[in-house]
Amino acid sequence: MTMNVKPVPTLDERINDIRMRTAEIVNTWILPYERTLWPQREGAELAEADRRRAYELREEVQQRVRQAGLWAPHLPVEYGGMGLDFLSHAYMNEVLAYALGAAKLFGVVAPNSGNQRILLKYGTEEQKRKWLVPLIEGTMESGFSMTEPHNPGSDPRSLDTTAVRDGDHWVINGHKWFTSNGIDADFFIVMCRVHDDAGELGRTGQMAQIIVPTSTSGVNVVRGIGIWGRSTSDHCEVIYENVRVPAENILGNVGDGHRAAQDRLGAGRIYHCMNSVGQMWRAFDLMIERATSRQVHGGPLKDKQFIQGFIADSYQDIQAARLMTIHAAEKTDRDDQDARTDISAIKIFVPAAYERVVDRAIQVWGAAGVSNDLPLATMYQGARTLRLADGPDEVHKILIAKNVIHRYESGEGWDFGN
Ligand SMILES: Cc1cc2nc3c(=O)[nH]c(=O)nc-3n(C[C@H](O)[C@H](O)[C@H](O)COP(=O)(O)OP(=O)(O)OC[C@H]3O[C@@H](n4cnc5c(N)ncnc54)[C@H](O)[C@@H]3O)c2cc1C
Repeated sequence: MTMNVKPVPTLDERINDIRMRTAEIVNTWILPYERTLWPQREGAELAEADRRRAYELREEVQQRVRQAGLWAPHLPVEYGGMGLDFLSHAYMNEVLAYALGAAKLFGVVAPNSGNQRILLKYGTEEQKRKWLVPLIEGTMESGFSMTEPHNPGSDPRSLDTTAVRDGDHWVINGHKWFTSNGIDADFFIVMCRVHDDAGELGRTGQMAQIIVPTSTSGVNVVRGIGIWGRSTSDHCEVIYENVRVPAENILGNVGDGHRAAQDRLGAGRIYHCMNSVGQMWRAFDLMIERATSRQVHGGPLKDKQFIQGFIADSYQDIQAARLMTIHAAEKTDRDDQDARTDISAIKIFVPAAYERVVDRAIQVWGAAGVSNDLPLATMYQGARTLRLADGPDEVHKILIAKNVIHRYESGEGWDFGN
């Protein structure tokens, strides 16, 4: 089944055109070849020929994406991207995410894409030349190293990896984990607590993000942590032991660390949610495909009221998730301070809705639903993971409640119309 994307009457011609052209590539060049493009999803040991065929096919699709002018929506034109504004990018995401993993074929690869945004915003010209350009050209890989095993990631104030100033260098010591892409990364952006007693007053204890090449002595990638029953992954445990990097590897200034993390996560959460909407859309289509074709107990599944309930509930979940996300994106786009509350709301609601929709689609498909023949099992794990990554639900609930109560205590109610 292909994705049914038609122009949205409320969107301008340019965004509709981008969406239609994205859908054309997804429907024509990605969905029919998913198993060839991503053979590793089958779980079996890959033959060299399959690996090569997959690589060549991915290159071919990427070439088509470039020719269609749809490469790297998150990057400015001068860095080879589409130079898309925030809202257009969000609207494009729900279309490209319909095919699991398609973002990579459009030049958006986490965590590289987040690091690219941070380098663009905080990097010096020299840092951009040294780290951003190779990242964009694909000659380098990167990771973002913030979470620590012995401290709660949901409370970034607890992070205790240190960067001590020693002459022209930072000396970094700490223990991180779940640093994604850690196996292949050429550099990590590491969140550190700075000790700079000789420097400006008050800088000790503040946070900074520092670029650390993985080849530096003392960077020890201990393991790829096994997740979801698999023995390994590229989410790595990393120990930094007396790692010396040049002072100019700091991104922005001492004290910018948390803000840079928020810059990365804030917009990222909206993109993630639009991706989830696209994936829910796919799960929904798959659910209907099975419901209309499978005969059980003397009739098609679609005629059973339990299944009709699944369809109706999923329809509501997708519509609600999508409209909430667009609302948050519009507020973010016009720099509305309340957007922070809406981003937290979608960060809770959308992954949970995504999990419910995929769960129902799996149920409708029966055993096939959990098989590697369909993308549903992977989606299910992804949806569940999203409920704790990038800030778990509880932290976002606290933030919503605080913002709302503050508004009422300052004498105003919440304006749901805006
Ligand atoms: C697949 C995957 C990839 C990841 N990639 C990266 C990466 O590339 N780089 C990186 O730095 N990190 C990464 N992470 C880490 C992720 O950001 C953290 O797991 C997340 O921030 C939560 O931190 P934590 O695991 O330490 O949980 P904790 O902070 O220990 O929280 C555990 C639980 O406690 C509860 N909780 C927390 N605070 C409160 C509260 N105030 N009130 C009530 N309950 C609360 C929540 O239920 C929460 O899930 C990744 C994680 C996963 C699973």
